[in-house]
Amino acid sequence: MKKKGFIKRFLPYYKPYKATLVLDLFCALLYSLAGLAFPVLVRELLGRLEAAGGLSLRVIVTVGGIMVAVKLVETACRYFMITVGHIMGTKFEADLRRELYGKLMQMPASFYDNNKVGDLMSRVNNDLFDITEFSHHCPEELFIASVRILGIFLYLLFINVWLTLIIFAAMPLFIALAFLLNGKLESNFAARRKKVGEINANIEDSLSGVGVVRSFANEDKEMQKFERDNKEFIDIKSRSYKMMGLFFSEVTLSTGLLYILTVVAGAVFIAKGIGGLTWVDLMTYVLFVQTLYSSIDTIITYSEQFQTGKSGFNRFAEIMDVPVDLTEPMNVRSDVDYSGDVQLQNVTFAYDESGKSVLKNLDLTVKSGTTVALVGPSGAGKTTIANLIPRLYDVKEGAVTIGGVPVTEISLKELRRNVGIVQQNVYLFNGSVKENILYGRPNATDEEVIAAAKAAGAHEFIEKLEKGYDTSCGERGVRLSGGQKQRISIARLFLKDPPILILDEATSALDNESERLVQRSLKRLCDGRTSIVIAHRLTTVRGADTICVVTEEGIAERGTHAELLQKGGLYASLYRMYEETA
Ligand code: ADP
Repeated sequence: MKKKGFIKRFLPYYKPYKATLVLDLFCALLYSLAGLAFPVLVRELLGRLEAAGGLSLRVIVTVGGIMVAVKLVETACRYFMITVGHIMGTKFEADLRRELYGKLMQMPASFYDNNKVGDLMSRVNNDLFDITEFSHHCPEELFIASVRILGIFLYLLFINVWLTLIIFAAMPLFIALAFLLNGKLESNFAARRKKVGEINANIEDSLSGVGVVRSFANEDKEMQKFERDNKEFIDIKSRSYKMMGLFFSEVTLSTGLLYILTVVAGAVFIAKGIGGLTWVDLMTYVLFVQTLYSSIDTIITYSEQFQTGKSGFNRFAEIMDVPVDLTEPMNVRSDVDYSGDVQLQNVTFAYDESGKSVLKNLDLTVKSGTTVALVGPSGAGKTTIANLIPRLYDVKEGAVTIGGVPVTEISLKELRRNVGIVQQNVYLFNGSVKENILYGRPNATDEEVIAAAKAAGAHEFIEKLEKGYDTSCGERGVRLSGGQKQRISIARLFLKDPPILILDEATSALDNESERLVQRSLKRLCDGRTSIVIAHRLTTVRGADTICVVTEEGIAERGTHAELLQKGGLYASLYRMYEETA
């Protein structure tokens, strides 16, 4: 896809907030004009007083009144910009986050193979925050600063052309210096953020593995590692404070020099009577120099923020541009018989475009309502075969069909509603046991949830939990054993009741008793469904209607347990070896 320019891509996000942004910028305009009005009013006041030759209470009261009015306008504008501007920024951030989250939900499985969830989280949080800040501050502040600089320039030109030109001619030097130092300061800040991130990651790592640390009595070593990081932290922070010191001293020096230049040059102008400059005019110049310098400072600071926001947005755009290769079919077939045969026809598949094929010209039929067990060495491609059925990945050649219809012609949602998967690692969300089971079918009744739990052999232990079905589980919940988690996940599937089932049998990590319970629930679950079981233990496959031995060369043998034993091939020898060790 051709990349659109940053501005072209970023501007449309302002669309829902056009009115707010215009109002915001209008306030920014008023705010900057109010800032300019103050020195002008002082000049007006002093000028008139001088012309009147002394105290004129009426003039003082009028100008003072105007000053108060101007300050009130300035205050109101500031209030509006801070509140409404930030709220707009937050909504802006929420929009981007929604878009990003939606996209992450649709990302192909290969995306998650190559990206860590932790990185993605930090992207979502940091980048989006940078973008938000930039989305409203940059237009506001840059606008204010530009209006002020231009306003000051024009007004001062009107007072005295030459003195104004002298002051503005000196500025590029100060600006260049400030830009240079600010750039260094920012890159130092970035390094500092990175270092703090590393230290935190290290602390998290060793705290998560605190059991291992203790069991090897390596606390001292961890402490040394920590000390090293902590020292680096001091170094890097000291460097950044030195840089900060330089930057702010430069600002002080530059403003000071600018004042001196203005006062000295102005005094010369007055002494020599050049351009009719009066002391009141000079006073105005002095008042404006401060505003002028702070406006320049703003531009420098925000051009840096602009860069951060821009790179945050570019990273956001990068994720948005990842092609979602598993797309909904154009013409969805509505006549799919999900209880029909599941077939892989002449399937070739590789994880990488250019990588070696994991599956080559593979044919496999799972007859309606039967169970096919896949056995064989690890890395042979069993999980890969299973992944192709719910389209976690798409085949490169050949087709996967359900009831004769290629899965690429079935709506993804429908397909996944009809294929149930039991995975090795059960993931329970933070929520109650009941909510976790309901994940299978959110509108199920309590009775249905209990029936599903009973079918999965989970009801008994759930009842014994402190709050029964309302006990919270997941990361922040009660500690459930591996077997209990498995049975909750099986209950989920009983509730979902899909006609097609994929089981990645992961009972090897369970103790014998749990394994027996889980196996029993799984068997019940497979009953009457078209199932593919990835078997890790040969005892569990005996009952399958067909056993396929998957090797790197493809399916080497297929048949029933008895047939394969009689054949005396690979399965028979695997089985014999298994029996000997069991
Ligand atoms: P099995 O389930 O039989 O142990 P897999 O289907 O998991 O085997 O793996 C088959 C091959 O594909 C292995 O060589 C493995 O390294 C590779 N593989 C598995 N998953 C991925 C992935 N997400 N990305 C790239 N290669 C993968």
